[in-house]
Amino acid sequence: MSDGPTYGFDTLQIHAGARPDPATGARQTPIYQTTAYVFRDAEHAAALFNLQEVGYIYSRLTNPTVAVLQERIATLEGGVGAVCCSSGHAAQIMALFPLMGPGLNIVASTRLYGGTVTQFSQTIKRFGWSAKFVDFDDLDALRNAIDADTRAVFCESVANPGGYITDLRAVADVADAAGLPLIVDNTSATPYLCRPIEHGATLVVHSTTKYLTGNGTVTGGAIVDSGRFDWSASDKFPSLSAPEPAYHGLRFHETFGPLAFTFHGIAIGLRDLGMTMNPQAAHYTLMGIETLSLRMERHVENAVKIATWLENDPRIDYVTYAGLPSSPYHGRVAEVCPKGAGALFTFAVKGGYDACVKLVNSLEIFSHVANLGDTRSLIIHSASTTHRQLTPDQQRAAGAAPEVVRVSIGIEDAADLIADLDQALTKATA
Ligand SMILES: *Cc1c(COP(=O)(O)O)cnc(C)c1O
Repeated sequence: MSDGPTYGFDTLQIHAGARPDPATGARQTPIYQTTAYVFRDAEHAAALFNLQEVGYIYSRLTNPTVAVLQERIATLEGGVGAVCCSSGHAAQIMALFPLMGPGLNIVASTRLYGGTVTQFSQTIKRFGWSAKFVDFDDLDALRNAIDADTRAVFCESVANPGGYITDLRAVADVADAAGLPLIVDNTSATPYLCRPIEHGATLVVHSTTKYLTGNGTVTGGAIVDSGRFDWSASDKFPSLSAPEPAYHGLRFHETFGPLAFTFHGIAIGLRDLGMTMNPQAAHYTLMGIETLSLRMERHVENAVKIATWLENDPRIDYVTYAGLPSSPYHGRVAEVCPKGAGALFTFAVKGGYDACVKLVNSLEIFSHVANLGDTRSLIIHSASTTHRQLTPDQQRAAGAAPEVVRVSIGIEDAADLIADLDQALTKATA
């Protein structure tokens, strides 16, 4: 179908990027389980390698099943193109790769997925890159952290572990004034709840592992380009604006205009880093995306019911969910994520660390896993698992205090989830 702006989200999540298979008429997108593609002739091969013609060469670069997913996600986010890769963490490296070089830095929000904090504070140093973490509610701190070597500003829309919403427009204005791209991780919100490009984001990254796939089956990631950033406005982004030595001197921005970042991501990022999504994973994610809006509506509805019930329960100290009027970030919901604040939040159990451990052990429907964004309800006690290496002070700063558990509310019956929490809380606080 031609995916014009006249189609609504529910239509696009099923149709964008897909057309009946030209060879067989297959209505569902086939899994093109192939590594390579036959060239029509030597001229065709040369045109493909010169990027003069768009087509398929080798599945490390492009694959027809993955291409449908790329177009689907780009459309839902309101971007001009997308590159899929093997995980959310791969997507983050792929997003930074064209912008960065040794000695350069990014300025990132302190409120990030734990794995991203580790990737940015430790691993990227091996490439000579670095990250400065600041509180994105303090716009002066953000402005002051940006220096001549900064190449991107990075945050999450609805941030993990829940309860925080970034004022995307304010952050985008600061990035804009500094001539820098804003990269927004939209994993927790999904494009159904939040469309960061409408708030000024340059690039949107996803862990498709989470809500986009939705069933906890495959890992994947995506980088969506808004197509709006002028890579040639300064000399800060030579990989996109100047002759790129890694592609026989091609000038990506001049050649591909708004699609420069996407073409660079495929022709150089996937070619040389190889963090490719496989067609089987793309298939699972395409299946998931078809029901994204339906699932997100139920995720949010359940999260509001359960957070409200918890907040009124005497065994609970506090609940941090931006969907509750008591949250300091509740006022940002209408602007940033008008369809809801997601389904991820934390709550503190009276009785502290021991009560949290007992709660997690006593739940029957909730699964104790290090994941989020599944149809199933999930829970984790970060202080005894993912954050157990940290001191209690560090745990508190990361939103993983000893008395706090994080939940990812699924799409089961809310009444059953509440009953499960009720019986487990009784055991935990006995
Ligand atoms: C899970 C997650 C990631 C990392 O994605 P993987 O697919 O696990 O590599 C990044 N950001 C957020 C917000 C996440 O939830």
